[in-house]
Amino acid sequence: MSYDSFKGDLRDLYQELILDHNQNPHNFREIEGANHKSEGFNPLCGDRMTAYINIDADVIEDISFLGTGCAISKASASIMTTILKGKTVKEAREIFKKFHRMVTTGDADIQDLGKLAALAGVHKFPARVKCATLAWHTVKNSLDGISVVATTE
Ligand code: ZN
Repeated sequence: MSYDSFKGDLRDLYQELILDHNQNPHNFREIEGANHKSEGFNPLCGDRMTAYINIDADVIEDISFLGTGCAISKASASIMTTILKGKTVKEAREIFKKFHRMVTTGDADIQDLGKLAALAGVHKFPARVKCATLAWHTVKNSLDGISVVATTE
C-alpha cells in the first residue's frame, strides 16, 4: 500500500461522525448505583474504559461510560451507548456479533447497525479493531456477569 492510499484510508476511517463522537461523547458519565459495572483495557493502544449499565427486567435501561483513549475507542463507546440504550440483553448480544463481524471483515449489515456502520473502515487496520471493540468487550463482560477487567487480548 502506498503512503498516499494509506492516508486516504485513514481519512475514510476518521469520518466526521467518529470525530464528533470523540469530541462530544454521548453518555460520558458515571451512573451512580449502576447494577452492572466493568472495566476494559486495550494494552495495544492504551485505551481504558469503565462501563456502567442499569439492567431492569432484561432491558438496558441506562448505559454510560468513562475513560481515556484514542478517537476510535471513545467514538465506538459513545455510539454503542446510544444504540444499546433501551435494547434487551439478547438484542445487545446480537448487535455485538454483527458489529464484531463488521470490524473484523468489513461485512456490514448497514441497516441493522445504523451509526455503527461508520466504523466499518476499521477492518483495514487490524490494530484499530481492538480500539473499536474495547467498549463492546467491556459491556459483554458485564452482561456475562464477569467483573474482571476486560482486555482485548
Ligand atoms: Zn485506541
